[in-house]
Amino acid sequence: MTGQRHEFEQLTVLEAEAIGQPGQRRFRLIAGSGNDLVLLWMEKEQLQALGLAIEQLLEQLRLAGLVRGRIPNQPAKLQGGLPPTTPEYLVGRMAIGYDEERRQIAIFAHDIEQGEDEDPIFAGRATLPAAKALAEQIAAVIAAGRPRCPRCGAVIGPEGHVCPYDNGHLPWEG
Ligand SMILES: [Zn+2]
Repeated sequence: MTGQRHEFEQLTVLEAEAIGQPGQRRFRLIAGSGNDLVLLWMEKEQLQALGLAIEQLLEQLRLAGLVRGRIPNQPAKLQGGLPPTTPEYLVGRMAIGYDEERRQIAIFAHDIEQGEDEDPIFAGRATLPAAKALAEQIAAVIAAGRPRCPRCGAVIGPEGHVCPYDNGHLPWEG
């Protein structure tokens, strides 16, 4: 599936979602413009890395003075359902960059079967508010699959969890 390329001057749809039951979730991006969409399936780690890369890029832009003030969170949501013929790809490498002229974030994805020297199967530009919304959505999607403490409901990370019920200081007791 390396023949057709999907390039979008402006992504009007850019969403992340998890499909399936906890522990068996699969992750994908829905991206495109109007009804011209692609599904980019990827590992959870890849999706997480994409979200972090966007957050870091936005922070760099802010530090460099290229972005002033707070970037609003403006999701690029899918309107209506997915067209049944939406092309699907399994993502290998991904990259992002900043398009200074348009002041937008460019997202590139290679199909897993593509060679290093081939053009990415997917390329699209997103507004900064849409990119920020995607990064926040990714964080929420990733966190939704993590185990939670049955007593206080907090997410239990790889480092474990210090439960407020164990030390007598419940968060709402101050
Ligand atoms: Zn707890």
